[in-house]
Amino acid sequence: MTPEIYLDANATCPVLPAAIDAALDALGPRFGNPSSSHAAGLRAKAILDEARACARRVIGAGDGRLMFTSGATEGIQTAVLSVLWSVRERQLAGQPCGRLLVYGATEHKAVPESLAHWNRLLGTNLELAVLPVDGEGRHRLDVLRELAPDAAMVCTMAANNETGTVSDLEGIARVLGETGSGAYWMVDCVQALGKLPLALASTRIDYAPFSGHKLCAPKGIGMLYVRAGAPFTPLVAGGGQEAGQRSGTENMAGIAAFGAVLKALEQGQVFRGHDALVESRDRVVQALREAFPGIVFNSPLEHALPTTINFSVPGLSSRDVLDVFDAAAIRVSAGSACSASKAQPSYVLQAMGLPLWRAASAVRLSFGPQADEAFIDAACERIRRCSQALRADPLVLAPSAHHGLLQVNAEGCAGWLVFDADEKSCVAIDIPAPMAARIASLAKARRYTVRAILGDAACSSALCSALAELGVPFHAGWPAATAEVALAGGLRAPAIRIGAQWLANADGGYLLGAVHGETLPRVEYAFIGASQAACECACADTILCRNADDDALGWSAIGAEAAFDEHEMHLAPAALEDFLQAHPDAVLVDVREASEHAAGPVTLHGRVAQSVPLSRMAEHAASWLREGDTPRVFLCRSGNRSAKAARQLRRFGFAQAWHVAGGVALAV
Ligand code: PLP
Repeated sequence: MTPEIYLDANATCPVLPAAIDAALDALGPRFGNPSSSHAAGLRAKAILDEARACARRVIGAGDGRLMFTSGATEGIQTAVLSVLWSVRERQLAGQPCGRLLVYGATEHKAVPESLAHWNRLLGTNLELAVLPVDGEGRHRLDVLRELAPDAAMVCTMAANNETGTVSDLEGIARVLGETGSGAYWMVDCVQALGKLPLALASTRIDYAPFSGHKLCAPKGIGMLYVRAGAPFTPLVAGGGQEAGQRSGTENMAGIAAFGAVLKALEQGQVFRGHDALVESRDRVVQALREAFPGIVFNSPLEHALPTTINFSVPGLSSRDVLDVFDAAAIRVSAGSACSASKAQPSYVLQAMGLPLWRAASAVRLSFGPQADEAFIDAACERIRRCSQALRADPLVLAPSAHHGLLQVNAEGCAGWLVFDADEKSCVAIDIPAPMAARIASLAKARRYTVRAILGDAACSSALCSALAELGVPFHAGWPAATAEVALAGGLRAPAIRIGAQWLANADGGYLLGAVHGETLPRVEYAFIGASQAACECACADTILCRNADDDALGWSAIGAEAAFDEHEMHLAPAALEDFLQAHPDAVLVDVREASEHAAGPVTLHGRVAQSVPLSRMAEHAASWLREGDTPRVFLCRSGNRSAKAARQLRRFGFAQAWHVAGGVALAV
C-alpha cells in the first residue's frame, strides 16, 4: 500500500506520539477526577495544572482567563455569549453599547453563525455587518474605520484556514484604538497556534479561541483566552469546574494530550520555526509549478502562513485534482473540511473577489509545522507523479479494440463522443456546455478533428465556439456528403463511417453499429437525446444513450428494468477476500477516471483491477452482457461510482455485478 502523504493539516492533524502517550497516561495510571481531593484526584489535577500553566506561557495569557473547552467552536460561542450578555445588560440599563456585530468576510462559519444565533436568542437585535477583505484576503481597514465606532463586537481571525492569509492584527488594533471603538475584539487563533508568535495579554485582543486538533492534539479539546476585565459569562453551568467558567468533568485525556503538544511547542524541538517552514513551502510551490504549468496561487505567499498553499489550475476542477491526488494517496482538500461535502465554490475566495473559476477549482494543501525535510521531499515527488497521471487522457483509445465511445457528463447532463482513433476524428453528440472548453482543449492537444456536432442546439453552439476559439477543425451539424445505409427492416438512412462503424442519422436519433457493407444490421448504440421512447430500429440489447446523467448513468436498454435487491450487490471490504477466493474468475473493475487509475492503480488480494472509467462503461457494457456470467466487482474511491456501475448492470438482469462498499479507501 502506498504510504499516505497527508497534506490537509488545516482540517486536522495526526496526533503527536507524545500526545498519545500523555492521553494514555490520563486514561490509565492517572485516570482520576481532578476535582477529587484524594491522591488519584490530585494526580489528575497535576496534569490539568501543568497543561494550563504551559498554555498560558505559550500564548502569553498574562493575567487573562484561560479555560479548556471542547474546541474552538465552543470558545467562539462563549466569547459571543459573553459579549452579547453584557450588551443586553447595558441595553436594559439604557447605556450605550454599539449597534453592530462586525465580522470578517472570510471568518470560519462558526463565527457568523454564533453571532446570529446568540443575537436572536438573547433578543439583543444588533445588526450583523460583514467586514470585507481585499484581493489578498486581508481585512479592509478603511471599512473597519467606518464600522468601528458603532461596533459592539469585532471578530477577525489571525490566519485564514483556506488561504493561510495572515491578518494585519496590528492594523486592526490601531483602527480600533484610533476610532475610540468600545467594541470587544475576538480573534480566532485556531490556525495561528504553532505557526505565529502569540503574546495575547500584550495586545488589545479580548477573546481568543483555539482548537487542539489543528496542532496535533486530539479532536474535542480546545481552549479560550479571555483578557482580564473583558465580560465573561459561562456557556456551561454545573459543578463549577474550570473555576466555574466551564462546568462538566474535564476531558482529561484531551487536556493531557493538548498539554503535551503545548510543551513540545514551548521546547521547540518538534515543531519547526518560520524560516524552515518557508523553505519547505517554497519547495512544494516549485513542485506544483513544475507539475501544473499555468497554476495560480490564490493568496499571496508573502502574507500567508508558510504551511498553507491554495491554488487553482486552469482547465482542472478541484474535483479532478482531489480525485487524482487521493488516488496517489495525497490527501488535500478543496477548502475547509466543514464545507468539503457541499461542493460549492469557496466563499473565502469569492469574498476576495477572485473569478468564479478560481473559487470553483481551488485546492488547499496544508502541512503541519512538524513536517520534516523527508516528508516534504516525499510530498514533492508524489505531486510530480500526479501531474503525469493527470495527463492520462480519456481521448487516447486502444486502436480499434473498442467502439471508442466516451460519455461526457456535467451538471446532470450527459453527452457522447464517438471516436475514430486511427483517423483522429470524432463526432460529438449533446456535449454539456460546461464541458465544451475542456473537450476543445483535449481535441486540440490530441490533434483530433470533430466531424459532426450533433444534438441539443445550446450544447452544440457552446462546443462550436470553444473549438473555433482554439482553431480545432469541426463541422456543426450533420455533414453534407454522407453515404446511405440500409437499416434493419429495409429503412434507409444517411450515415457516416467512423472507423469500423456506421453512424446513421435516423428519425428519432443517431444509430451506431458495425459496418457490414452498406448495411447497419444491428444497432449497438442509439443516441436518443431526451426521448424516453427507443427509436424503431433499436433491438433488445441496443444501448440507449440519453442526454441526462440520471441514476441510470444516462444509458439503458429496452427492458433493462430487472428488479433486484440492492443489498445483494454490496460487498463489505472485510468480505472481499473470501469472495475472491470463492470466485476465482471474478474481474476487478476500477471505475475511477483514467487519471485516478494512473495515479494509483489498485491491486486487492493479489488481483489487479482493470480500468474502465464510468464514462467508458456504456462502451463495455454490451460485451460484458454478451460474455455472460463472469462476476465483476466494481470499485472506486468511496463506493459511490462503483455502486452506480453495479446497479446499472443489475438493472440489465446481470446478477454477477458487485461493488466494494466504502470504496478503495476501506478495502486496502
Ligand atoms: N476557526 C477556524 C479558523 C477553523 O479552521 C476551525 C476548524 O476548521 C474552527 C474555527 C472550528 O474548530 P473546531 O471545529 O475544532 O471547533
